[in-house]
Amino acid sequence: MSISIKSPREIDLMRISNHMLCDMHRELEKLIRPGLPTIELDRAAAAFIKEHGVASNFLNYEGFPASICVSVNDEVVHGIPSKEKILREGDIVSIDAGIIYKGYHSDAARTYGVGKISPERQKLIDETRNAFFEAIKAARAGNHLFDISNAVADYIEPFGYGIVRDLVGHGVGTELHEEPQIPNYRMSKRGPRLQPGMTLAIEPMINLGRGDVVWEEDEWTVVTDDGSPSAHYENTILITDGDPEILSLY
Ligand code: MG
Repeated sequence: MSISIKSPREIDLMRISNHMLCDMHRELEKLIRPGLPTIELDRAAAAFIKEHGVASNFLNYEGFPASICVSVNDEVVHGIPSKEKILREGDIVSIDAGIIYKGYHSDAARTYGVGKISPERQKLIDETRNAFFEAIKAARAGNHLFDISNAVADYIEPFGYGIVRDLVGHGVGTELHEEPQIPNYRMSKRGPRLQPGMTLAIEPMINLGRGDVVWEEDEWTVVTDDGSPSAHYENTILITDGDPEILSLY
C-alpha cells in the first residue's frame, strides 16, 4: 500500500476536521479535575461530536466502546472511559481523540496533570510534547520517514525515558490508520521520502520508566510493564513545500 497524497480539496477537509478536534480537546481540558470520573470526558466528547454533526473515529473502531480514549498514569493509550475510574490529584491523564468530517479523519492526543502533579510527572508531559515539536522539524519534503523517528529518539534518549515501540504514529486521511507507520524509535532504514500533501499523525508515547508495554485483559488498555507513568502527545500534520502545517493545533 502506498502513502496517499491529498489534493487541495482533501487538505481543506482534513484541516476542518482537525481544527474541530482541536476545539474539542480545549473543551475537554477544561473539565479535568480531581474527582472526575473519566466517563464524563467521554460524555462531553460525544456531546461535542453530536452537536457538530460529525462522528468519532474511535467509537466502534474494531469494537472500541467509547468516543475517545482516556488513559491515566501507567495507562499508555487506549484506556476505556469509565464511571469507576476517578481522576485523583497528582494523576496524569491523556486524551486521544479523532473526528470524521465529510469522510476525513483527524487524530490528536494531549496529556494533562490532574490538580497539582509532581515535577517529575510534569517534566515527562513537557518533554513528550517537546519531542513532537522536535520531530516535526524533520517533517519536511525531501527528508525521509526515519528523520522523524530519529528526531524523537535523539530528543528523548538523553532523559533516560522509555520510548514505546509497540505502538507508532501513522498516516491519516480517509482512514484513521493509513500508511506509513511512524515509529518513535531509532530507524536504520530511511523509509519513504516525505512529499507535500502527505498527512501524518506523529505521536510520541513516552514512559517514565522502561518502554515495554502490556495489554490489559480488556484487550484495549495498554499499560507500562513496570507500572511507571506514561505520556502521549499527538497531532495530525501536513507535509508542505516548507514548514509542516500542524492541522490539529491552531
Ligand atoms: Mg494516532
